[in-house]
Amino acid sequence: MTHPAQPKASHFINGEYVEDTAGTPIPVIYAATGEQIATVYAATPAIVEQALSTAKEAQKAWAKMTGTERGRILRRAADIMRERNHELSVLETYDTGKPLQETLVADATSGADALEYFGGLAGSLTGEHIPMGEDWVYTVREALGLCVGIGAWNYPTQIACWKGAPALACGNSMVFKPSETTPLCALKVAEILLEAGAPAGIYNVIQGMGEVGGALVTDPRVDKVSLTGSVPTGKKVYAAAAAGMKHVTMELGGKSPLIIFDDADIDNAVGGAINGNFYSSGQVCSNGTRVFVQKGIKEKFLARLAERTGNAILGDPMDEATSFGPMVTVNQMNIVLGYIEKGKEEGARVVCGGARADMPGYYIQPTVFADVTDDMTIAREEIFGPVMSVLDFETEEEVVARANDTEFGLSAGVFTNDFSRAHRVIGQLEAGSCFINSYNDAPVEAPFGGVKASGVGRENSKEAIKHFSQVKSVYVRMGDVEAAF
Ligand code: NDP
Repeated sequence: MTHPAQPKASHFINGEYVEDTAGTPIPVIYAATGEQIATVYAATPAIVEQALSTAKEAQKAWAKMTGTERGRILRRAADIMRERNHELSVLETYDTGKPLQETLVADATSGADALEYFGGLAGSLTGEHIPMGEDWVYTVREALGLCVGIGAWNYPTQIACWKGAPALACGNSMVFKPSETTPLCALKVAEILLEAGAPAGIYNVIQGMGEVGGALVTDPRVDKVSLTGSVPTGKKVYAAAAAGMKHVTMELGGKSPLIIFDDADIDNAVGGAINGNFYSSGQVCSNGTRVFVQKGIKEKFLARLAERTGNAILGDPMDEATSFGPMVTVNQMNIVLGYIEKGKEEGARVVCGGARADMPGYYIQPTVFADVTDDMTIAREEIFGPVMSVLDFETEEEVVARANDTEFGLSAGVFTNDFSRAHRVIGQLEAGSCFINSYNDAPVEAPFGGVKASGVGRENSKEAIKHFSQVKSVYVRMGDVEAAF
């Protein structure tokens, strides 16, 4: 019997499911059991061509609609996503292994937020009038054209919407390629957009590995590329896009600092560290994985952290009581276990966890290392798993310098009850998405993205509009033209 997660076909192009079994088969594995639940096929050159040509064609009429009309469709899609939240959350859990407890509140719901927010903005995208004496200049905010979205595997529904919603609101079309690891959810986003009234071809989804992404990025018809992925992939995709002088948004990895001063509320700080390291089993780009704790409260902090981490419920992700799921793949599990071994070898102290969980599926125990120093591998490299490194510090000046001593710059957080210090410290941290007495909130209203190697451009908020549109300026002369000859 076919598993309920199996999609009707691998790709969604020009308003319908399309199959081409000549492509490389991609097995979809449920991370909680290791069982294969579905198969899709990587896009062949013919599929890539269909996706790009139909999206290119559909964009012209879409851009001619009023923003209000486009917005209405996006808002209808948001309503449909909310009505189907349960079904979509179950699919997200099959795709990623994340527990239903999370997916019910964080995935289709945040995708719907993006569709609703950008749907609401679509009708208000205007230019300006610039008086020049008798003459004037006016500006027009125009769509870029055909955009490509390429997703990572940790938030397949959310990423498909965070890229699609602002792109479509501005009058662009999109071809979206999910990660080969999580190919299922974006197909549902495409289906729902069509059902909400989006013209066929305006949002196509095709499957594949890096080479399909590469074919999309280098196609001369593509005007913009928005990638969520790792820094090495980001560098490749950015370079390929640059060769075609395309616009880019790069949402890449991080090794973000979370700084806890000795006057902080310990339970809130522990809660922030848990949210910033163990949500989605640590597979979150903005995680605060370098937790700097001021020396005076270190042992108290670690004791409370170990106690609360012990309350994590590892188990069947479909059981709503489960609060901690598996790694997305066996490969990702092995990468993370390798980092845990490295942490032990390099002399960090295991406070809790530190091994694979003794159960089927790709589960790793939530792991806390203390006595971590800046030069250890676990403090320098992005692990993308449930591994928290706790480092000690003494002074504000010292911790700011150490927090910034990284190639990454995605996020940063500070816990303190001294608000002057909170703002002073955040002001000096080199990061794009910051938190005071909180961690990892990502509402659609707030810009999201990184500095340094963590990325270029911003998603969400009005900032995203700037990255999915361009401004045309028109000078209007009322009098005669003066010329030298
Ligand atoms: P990867 O960088 O491996 O892949 C990202 C996407 O790019 C995948 O769809 C991948 O396809 C595709 N891809 C790979 N090579 C190329 C290429 N040469 N040209 C075009 N596309 C290509 O990241 P992961 O999927 O492993 O995701 C984890 C990473 O994503 C982490 O580093 C994490 O920090 C980052 N991330 C960043 C976020 C942010 O917003 N800043 C949010 C979430 C994750 P395929 O996998 O099918 O080969």
